[in-house]
Amino acid sequence: MDYLKVHCFHCKGDFELYNRNMNYDDKPPRCPHCLKMMNKTQWERLINAYYTFAEVNKNFRKYHDDRGEALFQVELRSYYVKPEKMVIDD
Ligand SMILES: [Zn+2]
Repeated sequence: MDYLKVHCFHCKGDFELYNRNMNYDDKPPRCPHCLKMMNKTQWERLINAYYTFAEVNKNFRKYHDDRGEALFQVELRSYYVKPEKMVIDD
């Protein structure tokens, strides 16, 4: 089961989005804690990215089952660091 974990920087809350929530026809999701809504363009990009990523993992499983290829499952994680907090070595 693939799902997305979303962090809201407005209220610092986290929530999940599952397959059943990933529809272009649906309104962009709101943070369930503070009700901030996601931008529609970003929501559509997120749906595209989600399905592309889920397909790659699905194919890893399929090619493993069908052809005995090595099995991998990949998880994308993000950790946001404010630009002013980044330490650049020179
Ligand atoms: Zn929030």
